[in-house]
Amino acid sequence: MAVAAYELLVLGGGSGGLAGARRAAELGARVALVEPRRFGGTCVNVGCVPKKVMWNAAVHAEFVHDHADYGFETPGVKFNWRTIKEKRDAYVRRLNEIYENNVKKAHIDIIRGYGKFTADPEPTIEVDGKKYTAPHILIATGGRPAVPPDSEIPGASLGITSDGFFDLEELPRRSVIVGAGYIAVEIAGILSTLGSKSSLLIRRDKVLRTFDSMISSNCTQELENTGVDVWKHTQVKTVTRSPHGLLDVTVTSSVPGCTPKEGVIQDVDCLLWAVGREPNTEELCLDQVVRWQHIPSGVQVDAKGHVVVDKYQNTTRRGVYAVGDVCGRALLTPVAIAAARKLAHRLFEGKEESWLDYHDIPTVVFSHPPIGTVGLTEDEAVATHGRENVKIYSTSFTPLYHAITQRKVKCVMKLVCAGKEEKVVGLHMQGLGCDEMLQGFAVAIKMGATKADLDNTVAIHPTSAEELVTLR
Ligand SMILES: Cc1cc2nc3c(=O)[nH]c(=O)nc-3n(C[C@H](O)[C@H](O)[C@H](O)COP(=O)(O)OP(=O)(O)OC[C@H]3O[C@@H](n4cnc5c(N)ncnc54)[C@H](O)[C@@H]3O)c2cc1C
Repeated sequence: MAVAAYELLVLGGGSGGLAGARRAAELGARVALVEPRRFGGTCVNVGCVPKKVMWNAAVHAEFVHDHADYGFETPGVKFNWRTIKEKRDAYVRRLNEIYENNVKKAHIDIIRGYGKFTADPEPTIEVDGKKYTAPHILIATGGRPAVPPDSEIPGASLGITSDGFFDLEELPRRSVIVGAGYIAVEIAGILSTLGSKSSLLIRRDKVLRTFDSMISSNCTQELENTGVDVWKHTQVKTVTRSPHGLLDVTVTSSVPGCTPKEGVIQDVDCLLWAVGREPNTEELCLDQVVRWQHIPSGVQVDAKGHVVVDKYQNTTRRGVYAVGDVCGRALLTPVAIAAARKLAHRLFEGKEESWLDYHDIPTVVFSHPPIGTVGLTEDEAVATHGRENVKIYSTSFTPLYHAITQRKVKCVMKLVCAGKEEKVVGLHMQGLGCDEMLQGFAVAIKMGATKADLDNTVAIHPTSAEELVTLR
């Protein structure tokens, strides 16, 4: 017999699930939250939060190089990985407690375990043999890092993923990171900056290939400048463990006819796969959900297993919704949170047109230096508006901070404008402070700012941000 005392059942206590459950409870709904592990999901435990702590540590390492230029004598500076790991883990544990307490304070029932759908006529969840049902069920089970199977790359399972990165007890001496997405870029940057000899293996010639071409090229160059050995047009052929316990990674060409670096990277103590993420849908038994109207399977998934949703986050089964990484679109914490809150307002406050607009979502990559980007890339703008209707403003300069340092890191910026009124449809930048610079400009762009609006705003001097309102 199913327990049917709830109005909303949420699967997953990560960014999306927690936000949806709490907002629904605030709006008066009776809510239960199913979560097998620590509260906070990917972001808190193995994503944004611990990653940003490690990035901050790496930024310290960069500034240490500049101390002498700024008049500080700091000989013999040493870095202790264990210290930062202990502090980081303690902070994450505090967040786990805070999140759990918030759930309890909101009078949300916590159900511990993995939830899966049953074949009952109405959508029903089973957790540890006990059934629960509710008129509304939200899937927010996120995803996990992918690792190539050993059948494809022998020895691949000897490597770790971003999850394992946060378990490392020591700074690896020799790291190999595989992948060209933002997680690969961030982890390679952190490891290299903190002193691990790092190689990044990418299948093409640049990282971040879905970003604006200026960012993609500049970031690849900056990785090399910070000491990351970027192996272009390559892929891993095999991984073997040497007699002394380290890994030998055999690298081969990824492009027929191309002659990249090839060979064996020896004595690797950290091989890290950052080759994409898979949704946590297999274990949900979504195919069990009984068909509804003309839809053959209850909750439809796409070829990669992501839950298919419409703009209201409705799945193909009435009363079942999905938000966040499990849907495979804009895999970011604030996106999962915003979509879940919008949904709660629609379901429990009667706001029928409450849905998340996925346009102009600002994104930061915590590379060295950081990247900030929002809106259309130049190529996307040209494809949408036509080359003749797109105007690009760009600049490249050395920030004032580096005027007196031996270490020089440039800042690049690009504004993509469209139409006669030169509406700003894209902003892309990489440089010191671009991470914190983006949010305010994203507001302006979301509001429809034009180039003239930026020009009419008085600059803040001396900053890097002022370049964006003085571009010619
Ligand atoms: C290394 C890394 C760095 C990142 N950095 C950033 C960043 O800087 N900024 C940013 O915005 N985003 C970042 N992200 C992405 C961000 O973490 C995710 O987009 C976000 O956590 C997605 O939230 P979610 O609620 O969809 O899923 P999750 O947060 O993954 O939560 C899913 C929850 O569901 C639970 N679950 C799984 N299966 C079941 C089941 N059957 N029943 C019940 N519960 C289940 C899981 O235990 C988990 O707690 C990063 C991700 C990674 C991996």
